[in-house]
Amino acid sequence: MYKGNTLTVSAIEPGLYELCFDNQSDSVNKFDAATIKELAEAGALLKDSDAKGLLVTSGKPVFVVGADITEFKGNFALDDEAFTANLNGANACFNQIEDLPMPTVCAINGFALGGGLEITLACDFRVMSTAAKVGLPETKLGIFPGFGGTVRMPRLVGADNAIEWIAGGKEYRADVALATGVVDAAVAPDDLREASLNLLKQAVSGDIAYQGRREQKKAPLQLNDIEMLMSFFTCKAMVQQQAGRNYPSPVAAIEAMEQSAKLGRDDALKLETQHFIRMARTFQSKALIGIFLNDQLVSKKAKTIAKGAADVKKAAVLGAGIMGGGIAYQSALKGTPIVMKDINQAGIDLGLAEASKLLSKRVKRGRMTADKMAEVLSRINPALSYEELSDVDMIVEAVVENPKVKHAVLKEVESKVAADTIITSNTSTISIDYLAEALERPENFCGMHFFNPVPLMPLVEVIRGTKTSDTAVAKTVAYANALGKKAIVVNDCPGFFVNRVLFPYFGGFALLLRDGADFAAVDKVMERWGWPMGPAYLSDVVGLDTAAHAADVLEAGFPDRMAQFEGLATNVLFKAGRYGQKNGKGFYNYEADKRGKVQKVATSESYELIAPHCADRTEFEADDVVARMMVPMVIEVQRCLEEGIIASAAEADLALVYGVGFPPFRGGVFRYVDEMGMANFVAMADSLKHLGASYEVTDKMREMAANGESYYG
Ligand code: NAD
Repeated sequence: MYKGNTLTVSAIEPGLYELCFDNQSDSVNKFDAATIKELAEAGALLKDSDAKGLLVTSGKPVFVVGADITEFKGNFALDDEAFTANLNGANACFNQIEDLPMPTVCAINGFALGGGLEITLACDFRVMSTAAKVGLPETKLGIFPGFGGTVRMPRLVGADNAIEWIAGGKEYRADVALATGVVDAAVAPDDLREASLNLLKQAVSGDIAYQGRREQKKAPLQLNDIEMLMSFFTCKAMVQQQAGRNYPSPVAAIEAMEQSAKLGRDDALKLETQHFIRMARTFQSKALIGIFLNDQLVSKKAKTIAKGAADVKKAAVLGAGIMGGGIAYQSALKGTPIVMKDINQAGIDLGLAEASKLLSKRVKRGRMTADKMAEVLSRINPALSYEELSDVDMIVEAVVENPKVKHAVLKEVESKVAADTIITSNTSTISIDYLAEALERPENFCGMHFFNPVPLMPLVEVIRGTKTSDTAVAKTVAYANALGKKAIVVNDCPGFFVNRVLFPYFGGFALLLRDGADFAAVDKVMERWGWPMGPAYLSDVVGLDTAAHAADVLEAGFPDRMAQFEGLATNVLFKAGRYGQKNGKGFYNYEADKRGKVQKVATSESYELIAPHCADRTEFEADDVVARMMVPMVIEVQRCLEEGIIASAAEADLALVYGVGFPPFRGGVFRYVDEMGMANFVAMADSLKHLGASYEVTDKMREMAANGESYYG
């Protein structure tokens, strides 16, 4: 009946038709402008046809993955009138499907997310494969469902469930979707088509009534005032607290649902559109959508780099400490067997215990069976000698951060493995070129810098040394991909990318303390700004000893910008034996509470130690604190971009979000600069010039400011 580029309508048997999403120009189905246009055309044909029932399916492994996010930028830039018309058009198209003079059944075979789930809600019945996942993840992008999700979902499954699904933005399995009432049946993948067709035939024959359900979706919500209050008011407070003030879209979604609760479908949709546009205008949505697109770009690039590299069949990690243990766990979990070698049994026991603890947690939460846990653990092969390493094709060195020890270990291991084994180092600071000097085959060597804790932090910096071959980079990126990590390839320099740009930020912190700021107050300001931890707390978590060591490396590399000064607070505390969380004393003290959980507590001890090196206590405005902390970081990121340490603004921004927890709702440092405008940033930096070379913007930044240029256009 209809053949478009993204979907077709064809007869199954007399009276029964199938609308099949099957985008011919992409590997997945999504709601781009072309699909919506074709859906409108197909709907119009069906409306006036002899069809008695409609089955909605997908010709791809996914159902529909959602709206086409690459179209957001153009759409969101429209003025209110055009934007509203755009959304009205999509809603009219969905309504047309909902209003067809025949029952409709949707067979959800794979991912149905965002708009992909919203179109199923416009159908009368949903049958879901147990292999599929459904959800409304829009709030993760700083927006919320805009194709009728906030209208149909609460009318179908109740306000409480709708709020949970929409505000939480999670993906759900078929059993949960069924229990919630989002779908009407969950069946094995092989039974999906037959079960859906059966249901459709029953609806066509009148054995199952569909009109009542349809009316329910189009009527106001059936809640009295008390129930309204309980559902919306209570949930709103809870969601607000969970999301935090920097993420307004979950609460905006609830507001849309609340305000439209007493309205019929068409008026409720108008309200959804209004609130949707309000959210699409926020800088948070711009930032979060930017991260999504940067993530896609990085994943694509990593796939391209790794193309042609043989899979890592067996890996080895040297050193079973905090990092080595984490790497072994991650490798085993994702299916690559790994030898975990240490020089002492105690280290190995610790690494294994850590892996068991993490796996047990999964089993407890029902995310893994005990059998599977045993299988994962069996992939970690503990070793005290190099014998087990003869057949590994990838090595990650994660022994102590000491150049001499690393040189010795790398040299030794190279002599024990095959000539084409790739050797990497998880060093956080030591130059890859320097480490490569210990090797006969430096072309087979590069950096593979994980972040702590390994299972949680998505980033891996792959560091290319001067002599590193493309093959070594490709294989290392392939291994990072296999571990489920985001690999970003950077060039070698002191601190590589992430630590190099973090230290000017700590430098800004040190100057604030020198000039009389209270570290706890600085922490508060930066946490309010969005960082998961302020700089004093972060220093304690990293370890003041580790930070002092890294600061030495960076000072040697960039003496003009990163020279340390007499009385630097971190060093004063470190020299007084305060190493941070690891020994319970840093800027703060760390004590176990009644439940045995380590808590950060304020102490006068650290204030007394640093006071002789600091100016009298001065209150800084929050904006000044942020400027003094952020300006040196932004400038260093720009320098890395100009020097080719990192290839693009997108990769730099993503590395900061994934590697150090840069506030996602700000999108990264370059998105932050774009938001304020380069000219304003340069003016801000210039006003702080007296603080030293790390506050000097580059010529390129002045040029960008003069030309009104931005990073993301
Ligand atoms: P750690 O002290 O927890 O563990 C080091 C392990 O190496 C110990 O178990 C030790 O017994 C073992 N070891 C020492 N010499 C060895 C040898 N010759 N052969 C095999 N094992 C040996 O250290 P860590 O925090 O896991 O750090 C390891 C590496 O990872 C360092 O280079 C560090 O800079 C880097 N790194 C650490 C972090 C972090 O936050 N801890 C983050 C990123 C990178």
